[in-house]
Amino acid sequence: MSVNRRKFLEMTGAIAALGLSTKGLELVAKNSAHGNGNSSAVRLAMVIDMSKFINNPQLIQKCIDACVKEHNIPKIEKKTHQIKWIWDEPYTHAFIEQENEKLPKTIQEMPVLLLCNHCDNPPCTDVCPTQATWRRDSDGVVMMDWHRCIGCRYCMAACPYGSRSFNWFDPRPDIDNMHADYPTRKKGVVEKCTFCDERLARGQIPACVEVAKGAMIFGNLNDPLSPVRRILANRFSLRRKPELGTHPEIYYIL
Ligand code: SF4
Ligand code: SF4
Ligand code: SF4
Repeated sequence: MSVNRRKFLEMTGAIAALGLSTKGLELVAKNSAHGNGNSSAVRLAMVIDMSKFINNPQLIQKCIDACVKEHNIPKIEKKTHQIKWIWDEPYTHAFIEQENEKLPKTIQEMPVLLLCNHCDNPPCTDVCPTQATWRRDSDGVVMMDWHRCIGCRYCMAACPYGSRSFNWFDPRPDIDNMHADYPTRKKGVVEKCTFCDERLARGQIPACVEVAKGAMIFGNLNDPLSPVRRILANRFSLRRKPELGTHPEIYYIL
């Protein structure tokens, strides 16, 4: 990606992070105004309330479908070839290090929504030879430029969360209801959640957050008055594998 293209993507992210304008994002924008007004003061993060997904497979599917629809994600049956930006796993898989067989069955089997953690110290970006993936300085979003991806899969090996998927073949025939406004990918390219950077640039919240009806909260972690910070200040939260030093920015509450 040229420097200009990257700058453009960073600028749109910064503008979006500071000027989020739809209903939900008004909160983020309003609360960001309490910060120092510098785009580098923005650190976008997500809080997922796991309790809201217990016995609610419809809500889980709604969040996944919103992402699939928005981003032309193919539906592939073969498990090893699936393209996953957001998916669910039982609690015991999502938080292996929390293993505790005395936990109630409801918690052990509780579905947990997983996506890229938009790590503050992302090992995936360090290994990319073409800078097709990078952490955006303006708001911390870990981005992808599919035009630069050469499919080496170093980033997949480096990600300890399995948050990246490889297109083993042309995904286009497996896309239901192609969304003309979003680019499709091709065989040999890696992809993942980008925190809906295209929606942020339009002043919208991520698609999954929009349909989650309060079960997912999105905002500026650097703003002490933002909804994400308020929740984290009052609730016990977990992150996936924080001991690895990746500084994941998806927080889970129960
Ligand atoms: S979750 Fe994985 S893909 Fe996402 S930023 Fe962290 S290391 Fe990279
Ligand atoms: S697969 Fe693509 S994004 Fe991942 S390291 Fe290789 S070039 Fe970079
Ligand atoms: S933030 Fe956007 S890209 Fe990421 S999982 Fe949610 S809908 Fe998909």
